[in-house]
Amino acid sequence: MDLRFTPDEIAFRDEVRAFMRDALPAPIRRKMVEARRLEKDDIVTWQRILNARGWAVPHWPVAWGGTGWSPVKQYIFHEELQQAPAPDPLPFGVNMVGPVIIAFGSEAQKRRHLPRIANLDDWWCQGFSEPGAGSDLASLKTTARRDGDSYVVNGQKTWTTTAQYADWIFCLVRADPAAKKQQGISFLLIDMKTPGITVRPIQTIDGGREVNEVFFDDVRVPVENRVGEENRGWDYAKFLLGNERTGIARIGTSKARIRRLKEIAALERAGDKPLIEDERFRTKIAAVEVELKALEMTQLRVVAAARERNEPDPASSILKIKGSEIQQAVSELLLEAIGPYALPEETHDDADRWNEPPIGPEWAGPLAPHYFNWRKVSIYGGSNEIQKNIIAKAILGL
Ligand SMILES: Cc1cc2nc3c(=O)[nH]c(=O)nc-3n(C[C@H](O)[C@H](O)[C@H](O)COP(=O)(O)OP(=O)(O)OC[C@H]3O[C@@H](n4cnc5c(N)ncnc54)[C@H](O)[C@@H]3O)c2cc1C
Repeated sequence: MDLRFTPDEIAFRDEVRAFMRDALPAPIRRKMVEARRLEKDDIVTWQRILNARGWAVPHWPVAWGGTGWSPVKQYIFHEELQQAPAPDPLPFGVNMVGPVIIAFGSEAQKRRHLPRIANLDDWWCQGFSEPGAGSDLASLKTTARRDGDSYVVNGQKTWTTTAQYADWIFCLVRADPAAKKQQGISFLLIDMKTPGITVRPIQTIDGGREVNEVFFDDVRVPVENRVGEENRGWDYAKFLLGNERTGIARIGTSKARIRRLKEIAALERAGDKPLIEDERFRTKIAAVEVELKALEMTQLRVVAAARERNEPDPASSILKIKGSEIQQAVSELLLEAIGPYALPEETHDDADRWNEPPIGPEWAGPLAPHYFNWRKVSIYGGSNEIQKNIIAKAILGL
């Protein structure tokens, strides 16, 4: 298996790298470098820049705005985007509901939604998880009772990321309460402006607002907003979750964060030598870099195999586990590097801990919230324990 890029792929990498250098607005790049929280406008602005270049939805069919790139070129694109570092296009539209609509939606749904997803004219969120239905998603209880040309939806979703910004939500609902678990589930597209929807924030440990509870109280959804067939929603959800894990290793992001870590560790410290001169700290950085290099090789093997097979690989579960462990390890080293500046300051009344550090230099402020926030990466997209179950079944055949 040849893991080296061809001359054509290297030329492509240089083209993408130059675009990322020139087109990414400096304030967004700075937030990304410093691990600050992005605002909605940052993500919309950047996705529209990508879309104007024809690169917002590279993996979609060309007819709907895709690029026709090989899996290797798609990999190179994401690697360069993450290393820039630039924000990902909004995953709920671009990686999740978009491909589901392309594969299973009606022509009317494609025409209505796909161009608006690519340009981020509509912000989407994902309504899968419920209290009591996370890893065991098929036990979800939100109901959709058929009434003429509509479904009437009742229930609750939770952990819904950025629902506070959303124009639309895609939901798994139970249209046939009599059917067993997986069989009674349907996939609905719901306009967030529909009467009966309430969004309530969940305060997270980093002090931010990223996830929400979403309540449905007699929400009327036109039947034409169902994707595909009634009671086949579980198949569509499995297709979607397979896509969700693609690119989750975030190797480029970890590289960019390690670069930042080294910059911080090289800074002068009052009364002490820079941390980078401490051999034990350097050893810790080297250890995580070695792990990352090994992960990169695994990722390249998966990509090279995809070049030949052109289908998803259960090895994406390995990438998810190792990738999230490395991202968390780097966030821990960043915390160690800022030492006392990582201390939360509970007495600071309205501390927005992401953007206004209560103590220490301004650039250190976001790093403790970033550390806390990044605990999520081993949970969402299917927890790491669930990925181990998938590896046991699909790779080890246990
Ligand atoms: C920051 C964040 C954002 C999220 N955003 C969204 C979103 O936008 N939309 C959405 O629908 N969901 C979202 N989720 C939900 C996420 O998908 C679930 O949290 C995840 O699937 C785990 O489900 P749970 O929280 O109910 O935990 P549980 O399923 O209750 O799991 C609890 C613990 O038990 C372990 N466990 C469970 N079952 C098994 C098993 N069979 N074998 C071994 N161990 C097991 C889990 O690994 C975990 O450690 C988000 C979660 C987070 C943290």
